Amino acid sequence: MAYIAILTLRQIACDKASTERSATMTAPITQDVLTIPRKLPEGVRINLVGLTRPQLRDALIAAGTPEKQAKMRVGQIWQWVYYWGVRDFARMTNLAKDYRALLADRFEIVLPELVSRQISADGTRKYLVRIAGGHEVEVVYIPEEGRGTLCISSQVGCTLTCSFCHTGTQKLVRNLTAGEIVGQVMLARDDLGEWPEPGEGAGADRLVSNVVLMGMGEPLYNFDAVRDAMGIVMDGEGIALGRRRITLSTSGVVPEIARCATEIGCQLAISFHATTDEVRDQLVPINKRWNIKALLDTLREYPRLSNSERITFEYVMLKGVNDSDADARRLVKLIAGIPAKINLIPFNEWPGSPYERSDWERIEAFADIIYKAGYASPIRTPRGEDIMAACGQLKSATERARKTRPDPRAMP
Ligand code: SAH
Ligand code: SF4
Repeated sequence: MAYIAILTLRQIACDKASTERSATMTAPITQDVLTIPRKLPEGVRINLVGLTRPQLRDALIAAGTPEKQAKMRVGQIWQWVYYWGVRDFARMTNLAKDYRALLADRFEIVLPELVSRQISADGTRKYLVRIAGGHEVEVVYIPEEGRGTLCISSQVGCTLTCSFCHTGTQKLVRNLTAGEIVGQVMLARDDLGEWPEPGEGAGADRLVSNVVLMGMGEPLYNFDAVRDAMGIVMDGEGIALGRRRITLSTSGVVPEIARCATEIGCQLAISFHATTDEVRDQLVPINKRWNIKALLDTLREYPRLSNSERITFEYVMLKGVNDSDADARRLVKLIAGIPAKINLIPFNEWPGSPYERSDWERIEAFADIIYKAGYASPIRTPRGEDIMAACGQLKSATERARKTRPDPRAMP
C-alpha cells in the first residue's frame, strides 16, 4: 500500500496531505508505479495528469481494466486528455458508458489552479498558478512572430543562490510533480483556447509552439518529474511538441547534464554568465562545486549524446561585472569546439538587486565580438517587464501578489 500512497500523494492536485518535500525526497515514481498493488484503495481518485504511459497502464489495470485491453485504453484516454484537452470522462465517447463511469469513480483529470493572469502591453501573459499545499509558481507566455514560448517552472523557489536572480533569494519550498509541470502547459493551452474541437485537427500554427524550463527552479534538481513531464509534452499522440521545441536551462548541475540528452532528448541551455571561476563563483555559486572546466568538459561530450545539436549559452549582461571585451574574447576561447549559440540576456532588475544592466552599446559590442568569432549571438529582448514577468523577476511578483491579495484560506 505504501507505493500506491506515494502515487496518490504525488498525483492528486488537491490533496491536503501533500506536504512540502525537499529536493532529496523526490522518489522516482516510475519505480513506485511498476510495483503498484493490483487493486486501488477505495475512495481515492488518482489524478491522471502527469502519469507516463506505463504508469497510466498500471493504474488502469489496478482499477480493473483487463490487461489485454490496457494498451488500447491508454491510447484512447491519452488522446482525450492530451490531444483534445478533455477533463470529463463522460465526454470520452469511444469508451463504453460503464467503463467511463468506472474511470470517473477511480480517477480524475485535474490541473493546478489558475489564480490570476496578467497581460503585458507587449502581449506577454503571466499566470500565477497554485499547486497542492497552497504554494504558487509563475508561468509566462511570450508570443512572438510565428511562435509562442511558454516559460514554465520546475520548483517552488530554488536551492541555488545565484546573486543576480530573484528566484534565488527564495528558499526551495518543494519540487513540482510531473503533473504540476505538464499542468502548466495545459493551463496555458486552456487560457489561449488552443485545444482542437473534437473532430477537428490541431491548427498548423501553434500558440504554444515552444516550451522553456526557465521559470522558477533548477530543473536538473527535479530530474525525474521534469523528464516524465517532458515525455508527456513530446508524446506524438497528445500535445506533441517536438524535442527541438523544448529547452531545459540549467545553472550547471554537471552530473545530471548527460541524462538530459539520453533520457529527455530536448535542447540544452547553460546559464554560463562568466568567463573566470572567480566571477562565476560569485554569480552562479554552484560553480564552486563544478567549475568552468568541469562544466565545459561535460558539454564537450554532450553533442555526441544528443546528435550534435547546438548548446545555448545564456549570458546575463551585468554592467562592469562580466561585460568587457576581454570577457567576450575569453568566452569564445572557452567554448571553442562546442557547437553553440550565445544568448545575451540584458539583466532584469528587481527591487534591491545588487547589479545594473549593461548599457546597450556595451551589449552590442560584446555581441559583435562573439558574432565575428563565428557564433550566433542574439540579444534576448526583455519581455513583460511591466508585469515583472521577465527572466529572473519571478519571485517578486509572487510575493507582491501575496501581500496585496487576501489569502482565501484566512477568510472566514
Ligand atoms: N535554474 C535554471 C533555469 C531558471 S533561470 C537556470 O539557472 O538556468 C532561467 C534563466 O534566467 C537563466 O539563464 C538565469 O540565469 C536567467 N536569469 C535569472 N535572473 C535573471 C535576471 N535578473 N535577469 C536576467 N536573466 C536572469
Ligand atoms: Fe536557481 Fe536558476 Fe535562479 Fe540560479 S538562476 S537561483 S539556478 S532559478
